[in-house]
Amino acid sequence: MDKKLLRDVFVEVGGKIAEPLVDILDSKKYLNEFLVAKKLDLPINQTRNILYRISEHGLVSSTRKKDKKKGWFTYSWKIEELKSLDFLKSLLNKRLNQIQNQIKNRESREFYVCERCHVEFNEENALLHDFMCPECGSVLTLKDNTKLLKEMKKNLSGFEEVMKNVESEISTGQAMEAKKIRAKEAAEKREKSKKRAAAKEAREREKAKAGKTAEKSSAKKSVAKTSPKTAKRSAARKATVKSAKSSKTSKTSKKSASKTVKKATKASKSKSSSRTKN
Ligand SMILES: [Zn+2]
Repeated sequence: MDKKLLRDVFVEVGGKIAEPLVDILDSKKYLNEFLVAKKLDLPINQTRNILYRISEHGLVSSTRKKDKKKGWFTYSWKIEELKSLDFLKSLLNKRLNQIQNQIKNRESREFYVCERCHVEFNEENALLHDFMCPECGSVLTLKDNTKLLKEMKKNLSGFEEVMKNVESEISTGQAMEAKKIRAKEAAEKREKSKKRAAAKEAREREKAKAGKTAEKSSAKKSVAKTSPKTAKRSAARKATVKSAKSSKTSKTSKKSASKTVKKATKASKSKSSSRTKN
C-alpha cells in the first residue's frame, strides 16, 4: 500500500493535522482512541473530532467497547485502505476533469493581458473595455498561452500518473480482499465437514456403547437368577409402560414394544435352556 496516496487523502479530508494518522493507525488491527490521542499528542476530544471527520468519508472505521466499571464506551480505530483509495479516486477524477476543462478553455479561446498590471481578461471582457486596461489605460495584448498550457498539461499527466497508481492499488486491494474471502469460505467449509464427521463418529460411538450396555444389563439379569417367568412378565410390563409413555399410540411404538417383549422372551428362553443343560 502506497502510504503517500493515503496521506494525500487524509490531508484532503482531515487537514494537515490528520496526516500522522496514516502512520499511527493500522489497516488490520484496531487501535484504542486514547493511544491514538497520545501518539498524535493531542487532547482526546480533538483526536475524536478528527477521527469522526475522516470516518464520515469511510477512511477509518471503529469498534466500541463498554467500560464495565465506568459504563461509557471507548472506541478503537483502523484505516480502511480500499475505501480511502476509492475516495481518493473520486477526488482525482474531479481534479482531472477540472484541469482538462482548463486546458480546453485555453486552447479554444483567446485571453488578453495588461503587461503593466498583470491582469488577465477573457475575450468578452477585453472587448467590453475596448482592449484597454480599465486600471491604467494601457492597450491589452493577446496572451501567449504556450507556457501556461505546457504547465497545465504537465500537471494533468502528473494527476493521471497518480490515478494509475490509485487504480492499480485498488485492484490489488480488491484481489487480496477476494482472496481473503475465498480462504475464509474454504476454512468454514473445512470446519463444517470436520464437525459433521465428528458428530457422525460420536453417534456411532454412542450406538456402540448402547449396544454394549444392553449386553451387560442382560448379562446382569441372568446373574440375578430371575425365573424365566418373572423376567418375561417384567419385560412385558416395561414394554407396556414404555408404549404408554411414548403415548398418542403410534403404531411403531406399539410394534417396538411387542418386539421388546419377544426379545425378552427369547432371551429368557435361551437362558433357561442353557441352565437346564448345565
Ligand atoms: Zn493595466
